[in-house]
Amino acid sequence: MQDHLNDKEIVEQILAKKKELGEKLLILTHHYQRKEIVELGHYRGDSFGLSQKAAADKAARFIVFCGVHFMAESAEILSQPHQTVQIPDLEAGCWMADMADIYIVENAWEEITSITGEDSVMPIVYMNSDAALKAFCGHRGGAVCTSSNCPTAFRWALSERDKILFFPDQHLGRNTGNQMGIPAEEMIVWDPHKPLGGNTRDDIKKAKVILWDGYCLVHTRFRVEHALKMRERFPEAKIVVHPECTQEVVALADAVGSTSFIVKYVESAPPNTTIIIGTEVNLIERVALENPDKKVLVLHHSLCPNMFKINLKNLLWALDHVGQVNVVKVPEEIKADARMALDRMLALEPKTTPAKRGDLVKERQVAGVAVS
Ligand code: SF4
Repeated sequence: MQDHLNDKEIVEQILAKKKELGEKLLILTHHYQRKEIVELGHYRGDSFGLSQKAAADKAARFIVFCGVHFMAESAEILSQPHQTVQIPDLEAGCWMADMADIYIVENAWEEITSITGEDSVMPIVYMNSDAALKAFCGHRGGAVCTSSNCPTAFRWALSERDKILFFPDQHLGRNTGNQMGIPAEEMIVWDPHKPLGGNTRDDIKKAKVILWDGYCLVHTRFRVEHALKMRERFPEAKIVVHPECTQEVVALADAVGSTSFIVKYVESAPPNTTIIIGTEVNLIERVALENPDKKVLVLHHSLCPNMFKINLKNLLWALDHVGQVNVVKVPEEIKADARMALDRMLALEPKTTPAKRGDLVKERQVAGVAVS
């Protein structure tokens, strides 16, 4: 890596690489990336939106995903044969994704379906998961979902089968169940370290939703006392949180939604509104900068160290060895099943016209952010 360069020199070299590679290069940046990385990307967005952009951009030959590993994997699953997907740091994983390993999920499935029968349980996997788990779902008729379309996926699943096995994030699953009016006693938690997940056979038979005992450490740092304290200090403020927060925190918020929802919520709020956000701090700081007519505050400081592993140095290193280093490859047999689960999710989505690269440029100019 180019350790002798300062940040300004690195940015200049990245911009030169972008110019040299032109349409062949596509840099995707997740909303939780550092500001300087987001400013260098062609698109910013949430994990699935970015993968769709990659799949729709046929001219791109080299996709560099500035996010965590499962996101780069999803882009690879949806990519075209002529495209390669790279991640600037292969160590940028996701704690939540690591909480549901394919072998323990397979064991859980066997235990559950030995009681309920295979045809009555629909596996739904959150986007924040390894490709092997997406393939597990695809193979068994299930689908992937994101934090924005989880209710749609749940409704579809319950129209097809009696129960849902949802993993890895119990909080997104529970908040979605609450939103749909599913009684608390019909949502059980599956602890993979206990026999029958810590449940009785009867609990499993009665459950509508079986929630994997996983969680995001970044979003479960938000606590009821943070919401109460901020309400007291800013009684006029709106509180908006991500659905990976606990149901107790969600209950105290004015709105709940995905990262893209939160960005739009702030953009469409009237000037001078005070908005307190419960999600990853890099997104909040950027949204605050881009909406100077509003007061944007953190519910509590919470940073994702995995997202933070991507920096200017390793981005430049990936571009210096474009298509060669840190290439993310999903084995073909996993890819086919995982793609089925992703395609099922896509079939549940309303059709949208993919944005062109220029749309993002316009969007950023409006927000007053430097565009390369
Ligand atoms: S914020 Fe949470 S879910 Fe997202 S990458 Fe970090 S640990 Fe994973």
